[in-house]
Amino acid sequence: MNLLDGHKINYHTKEISDMFEGRLEAPIYVEISPTGICNHKCLFCHYNYLGHEGKFKKGKILELVRELAEIGVKSVVFAGNGEPTLHVDTIEAIQLAKSLGLDVAMSTNGALLKEEHFDILAKNLTWIRFSFNAGSEENYAHVHQTKSDDWHKVIENIKKLKEAKTRLKSDITIGSQFVLIPENKEYALEHGQRLKDLGVDYFSVKHFYDHSHNEFEVKEVISEEFIESLSKEAEKLNSDNFNFLVRSTKNLSSKRVYTKCYGLEFIVFIDENGDVYSCFSHQYDKKTIMGNVFQNSFKEIWASVKKQESLNHINDCIEKNSCQPNCRHHQINNYLWELKNPSIEHVNFI
Ligand code: SF4
Repeated sequence: MNLLDGHKINYHTKEISDMFEGRLEAPIYVEISPTGICNHKCLFCHYNYLGHEGKFKKGKILELVRELAEIGVKSVVFAGNGEPTLHVDTIEAIQLAKSLGLDVAMSTNGALLKEEHFDILAKNLTWIRFSFNAGSEENYAHVHQTKSDDWHKVIENIKKLKEAKTRLKSDITIGSQFVLIPENKEYALEHGQRLKDLGVDYFSVKHFYDHSHNEFEVKEVISEEFIESLSKEAEKLNSDNFNFLVRSTKNLSSKRVYTKCYGLEFIVFIDENGDVYSCFSHQYDKKTIMGNVFQNSFKEIWASVKKQESLNHINDCIEKNSCQPNCRHHQINNYLWELKNPSIEHVNFI
């Protein structure tokens, strides 16, 4: 299993113990959606059903970042339901978060980056992931539902970020993700070669995961033979500086061994309307909201009855086998369920 399909919660033993004892003081990882608005409308986007509306008011993300650092959050990712670089505060928030000791990352389509951003990103981000899901300018315009010019802009922007990384001797990991759908599958291999030539560190081909509210219909199931052949060809492109990952198909099943999601409190998502969620996938269910950062501080929300009610609702009322196959918490849930309910006997005979 590669790291993108795995988890790293085992490196946080104190937090695991605190969570099981009901006294976890802060999530480890917080994802912030500065805006729901997007300059693209990718065919497969899980968030199209939310309508791509709403944004943080000016200055509020900075206030939130200060608070998250103060309570002990370890990493923040700017991503979300829309394109994070469309928000006027995002670049400043990245710098602020880094200066306060947080690990910072961003997921972006990369089309709106400007000349003045590249050095800042190279200096402050641990990783960036370009969502780049096509293999030609026409294919890009179709899959991303945008103008074909953006294809060239993204390629130029990746080049400029790579140049800044090299010049500044930055450790930033530059990645690119490609959601594999029938509309782009024939381009996956050549796009991997293109990204290798551009100098990205990895190219990840991810399967499309169905979601109960997703409007996109997959017209054709991508065969196992296709995936196997792509994986074999991908391996040939791997080198010391480049990793071409075809994500595991094992995660395509929605069957769960667990009935409680013990990972919920470790990863938290704050949407563009200020609502705080643990489970990203059930944003349509208002009972999963822990609170709202436009109305209360994060600390107040974390200590609130409403937060506990939202966790109880997810754990007691949502049928886990009907969730999308590989939710953000899935591998952490698996690991923690096994810790709490060992499937092997005689664990004290270590
Ligand atoms: S298993 Fe279902 S309820 Fe639990 S975190 Fe994943 S999507 Fe949410």
